[in-house]
Amino acid sequence: KKRNPNEVEFQQAVKEVFYSLVPVLENNPQYIKQAILERIVEPDRIISFKVSWVDDHGNVKVNRGFRVQFSNHIGPYKGGLRFHPSVNASIIKFLGFEQIFKNSLTGQPIGGGKGGSDFDPKGKSDAEIMRFCQAFMTELSKYIGPDVDVPAGDIGVGAREIGYMFGQYKKLRGAYEAGVLTGKGIGYGGSLGRKEATGYGTVYFVEEMLKDAGASFNGSTVVVSGSGNVSIYAMEKAMQLGAKVVACSDSNGYIYDKDGINLATVKRLKEVEHKRISEYVNEYPDAIYMEGYTGIWSIPCDIALPCATQNEIDENSAALLVSNGVKAVGEGANMPSTLEAIDIFLDNNVLFAPAKAANAGGVAVSALEMAQNSARQYWTLEEVDGKLHDIMKNIYTKSKQAAQEYGAAGNLVIGANIAGFVKVADAMIEQGI
Ligand code: NDP
Repeated sequence: KKRNPNEVEFQQAVKEVFYSLVPVLENNPQYIKQAILERIVEPDRIISFKVSWVDDHGNVKVNRGFRVQFSNHIGPYKGGLRFHPSVNASIIKFLGFEQIFKNSLTGQPIGGGKGGSDFDPKGKSDAEIMRFCQAFMTELSKYIGPDVDVPAGDIGVGAREIGYMFGQYKKLRGAYEAGVLTGKGIGYGGSLGRKEATGYGTVYFVEEMLKDAGASFNGSTVVVSGSGNVSIYAMEKAMQLGAKVVACSDSNGYIYDKDGINLATVKRLKEVEHKRISEYVNEYPDAIYMEGYTGIWSIPCDIALPCATQNEIDENSAALLVSNGVKAVGEGANMPSTLEAIDIFLDNNVLFAPAKAANAGGVAVSALEMAQNSARQYWTLEEVDGKLHDIMKNIYTKSKQAAQEYGAAGNLVIGANIAGFVKVADAMIEQGI
């Protein structure tokens, strides 16, 4: 806290990991001697830069850009870019720190990093988005590369933004380095299945967790927060597995459709027309729209999948979910539950799938995109989805086994943190200081 004052999100992420690691440190004094915790918590470098761009009215605008390169012990720095007005050093550092362990869990050769800007894409024209992305990449390009640091999307950054940034990077380099960004369009180096990967992966992970407890998605009622990239594909896979998804949201409010949400309508509203989720009720008058995004957790459900943003479930929302009989929570977003909320779930025997493990499918398929780019090949959707499914099953097994091994059976928070940490820590020792 002294070294990183006011960085509350970063402190929260570190606290969760460090608490989990106590039994590992007790059994492995070399990690203490080698100052692994002190080293892993300090990014290799934090880059902060100015992004000036011109809006449609000729006004010059200035935003702040970030790239935090945390660890490249098991592969190039890898992690998304977030464009949202709330972005600051603390948020990028918490995301970059979590990314180290998540990327390690995937079993793919990728290190940890994260970046973004306090730019707000909402209400901007396509031309403004393009000019911002070009200005952002003009600076970022100095610090990235296919073997150095490979950004991808996150909140506010999808295929359109990746496309504009890739175009600018290509101009600046004068070379076609496809592997510098992931989440690219399918026609120019993107991987089939990447768009779906985080949402599908979260559901695959939760499915494994449910299976172990003798349950399944089939016939269950599900609430999914958000209506962006992760949420839409979490809803799709949950529905494919026989669940009824009754609610989703955006940052203004949530919709509740007791008969089950029509996903094709949500996809059109959000992916094509870029409208607010409130528009849904114009087409389905029996559905309800409520202002405020946290109210979604008052809807009774068997499975809750928070897929919007950090700290969206606090202790009150967690208690409400428990009193309404929730059986499982799967984190599609990064750090969507506060530490207090997690305690409530664990104390009440709710099956809990932590973000680091449950939402690792996106970055895992990004690594598969990098592999395809390096090999100059395209794999089929079935091939990519099959690999994703195997990776998620593996992450579940690794997390479960690590929890058992270190005396915390059933606690996947501890298991995922330990399994992700040990591999990176050992690589740090083997590579010297
Ligand atoms: P999108 O921008 O596609 O969607 C985000 C959704 O969450 C939107 O519905 C948005 O509503 C809502 N939201 C965003 N910020 C807030 C907020 N402060 N309060 C309430 N609602 C909010 O982002 P993604 O789906 O890509 O990302 C969602 C989460 O998943 C993030 O935590 C991200 O870090 C995580 N994640 C994403 C991965 C990916 O592959 N994309 C990979 C792993 C994790 P609105 O439109 O109104 O802003």
